[in-house]
Amino acid sequence: MPEGPEIRRAADRLAALLAGCRPERVEMAPGVLPGMERRLQGRRIVDVSARGKALLTRFEGGTILYTHNQLYGRWEIHPPGPIPPSSRALRLAIHCREGAAALYSATEIELLDEERLAAHPYLARLGPELLDPAMEERTIAERLALPRFGRRCLMGLLQDQSVVAGLGNYLCCEILFDCGLHPSGRLGTLPEETPVRLAASALRLARQSYRTAGITNDLRRAAALEKRGASFEARRFLVYRRGGLPCYRCGTPIEKGRYCGRMGYLCPRCQPANQAGGAAP
Ligand SMILES: [Zn+2]
Repeated sequence: MPEGPEIRRAADRLAALLAGCRPERVEMAPGVLPGMERRLQGRRIVDVSARGKALLTRFEGGTILYTHNQLYGRWEIHPPGPIPPSSRALRLAIHCREGAAALYSATEIELLDEERLAAHPYLARLGPELLDPAMEERTIAERLALPRFGRRCLMGLLQDQSVVAGLGNYLCCEILFDCGLHPSGRLGTLPEETPVRLAASALRLARQSYRTAGITNDLRRAAALEKRGASFEARRFLVYRRGGLPCYRCGTPIEKGRYCGRMGYLCPRCQPANQAGGAAP
């Protein structure tokens, strides 16, 4: 599943092609927004942005194309001209002079105005958007500190998009390691400053991952590993997908396990299960 940084990068790629374009043609698969092609053709696209796992393509005049990719949906960018055949189902294509943006297999495609966008059931239940460039640490920390979240297991809490939008499995594992917290920990039993530390780490790692196309490891360490020939996968994470390999902080083998019903990775020494303090070593 793509997480906040990947989704925002996908939105950026689409925006690079679509923002400012007046589509010469909009192609829809049968049954997708019947009769709406004309409403979009020739209408200038203002921008493309991400909200949770949805992409919003805003057209001049207040029309917003809402697409949610669920598990299999995917946007691709093609050179100008007909969209090449694919084994995936083409749902919709926006043809501009410089190229075409094609959406495959997405199940949720809607045209909305600002008012209906605000009331959209998926968007309405999302928490604050972690990768919103204007997002502040304080907003995330205050949200996490709400008493109603205090009894929930961190691994589940942080990945609940209605708490904070943008964190998935890899970011969650990396943030918990960064903070020295066990995934089964609960904020209600952890020191008072824990939400602030989590918020700072979440913003820092999500923004770094967005900037670097997926690196949450310490950047100097990742650069040193690259010099020694490590693949991208082998250098990008602190603990995620590093089961059995030595912890970068203490050398203890990283553990892969199920925490609160979700697969994850942790260092058993840096992230002990019964934490009174929860401070990173
Ligand atoms: Zn460790």
